[in-house]
Amino acid sequence: MPLTPSWVASANAPDHPFPLNNLPYGVFSTSDTDPRCGVAIGEMILDMAAAEETGLISLIDDPLFDVPYWNDLMEEGPAVWAALRERLTALLAEGAAERDKVEPLLVPMADAELHLPFVVSEYTDFYAGRHHATNVGTMFRGPENALPPNWLHIPIGYNGRASSVVVDGTPIRRPWGQLKSPQHDLPAFLPCRRFDLELEMGAIVGTASDGPITVQEADDNIFGYVLLNDWSARDIQAWEYQPLGPFQAKATATSISPWIVTKAALDPFRCDTPEREFELLDHLKDCGPMLYDIDLTVTLAPEGKDPTTIAQTNYREMYYSAAQQLAHHTTAGSPMNVGDLLGSGTISGAEKHERGSLLELSWGGKEPITLDTGEVRSFLEDGDTLTLGGHAQGDGYRIGFGQCGGQVLPAMEDPYKR
Ligand code: CA
Repeated sequence: MPLTPSWVASANAPDHPFPLNNLPYGVFSTSDTDPRCGVAIGEMILDMAAAEETGLISLIDDPLFDVPYWNDLMEEGPAVWAALRERLTALLAEGAAERDKVEPLLVPMADAELHLPFVVSEYTDFYAGRHHATNVGTMFRGPENALPPNWLHIPIGYNGRASSVVVDGTPIRRPWGQLKSPQHDLPAFLPCRRFDLELEMGAIVGTASDGPITVQEADDNIFGYVLLNDWSARDIQAWEYQPLGPFQAKATATSISPWIVTKAALDPFRCDTPEREFELLDHLKDCGPMLYDIDLTVTLAPEGKDPTTIAQTNYREMYYSAAQQLAHHTTAGSPMNVGDLLGSGTISGAEKHERGSLLELSWGGKEPITLDTGEVRSFLEDGDTLTLGGHAQGDGYRIGFGQCGGQVLPAMEDPYKR
């Protein structure tokens, strides 16, 4: 499918993240307006609350877009999602009859502040990248026990905290926690020394379910995707993770990109999961291409310095699709809600430069990486700005996600000082 040209000229550049084919959904405010729904088109944002108020967009009787979240639209279901996309495409396409009415409702992105695009109901994070799981397992347990015996049969996950999810640009303070190094008999309470990123995609549940659902139903229920960084305290993790999995190591923050890229926009980029070593049980079997070909990058910029690209990989490296993860999530009966966020798990490829965490890039700190600025990193230092980027490459256009970044702030001097 080629570029669909828009009368918003900036949207037609072949490397622009937000062409008419994309139409990602965000929440923005300006000096004149409270946070509200907006749609990115080129360098502009279409003010959806204003478009609804003027009657240009009218999907149901009640207003959907004068609120700082897209959950209300999600609640309306796939037919309304499709109707909105069709209407937006008609309003913004080259030669649109209503251009004169739409043009005054565009806000320059440069004048807008972006916020979390939806209310995160609950947050679950998975561990579904085979190269990542093999690398981390090798470091934590040795190569012969790298992949847990269940790993090739179920998508492993844990329940995270929705309250920890923040939008791109939010500074991240280095956590304190209980750490224990192999050289010491007893743990100590200290600022994290091995603070790390995890390059992930987040899938957003757009349709609620109650009870087990199939992989196809799960795919139907997903509304869209964001970039996701699961900030991780490796030293806290190494001490706490057995037997119930990560807890405080993952509780500091989870950053997401500010634009929800819809499943509809990503449809041309669907691809299959990798070959299976074991056949999956029926309720998890693939039933169509449900991964996506999305190029992903990680950059690290020391304070006041230029960024270095430290990793490049692709979402198609995952062993399980978000649909399989969502289906698995419901098998024991757990209801899923509109606005639930599912982290894919760290996305790493086979090659060293394709590793989606510093833990893997520096091999647990044994092989520090050198940045273009000459600095050396095993883990994140205070002042570092870490940014994820991603796009699907179409024929003369891109489906971009915007960025997902944050600067690491120094740990508090004493978290218990009152
Ligand atoms: Ca993770």
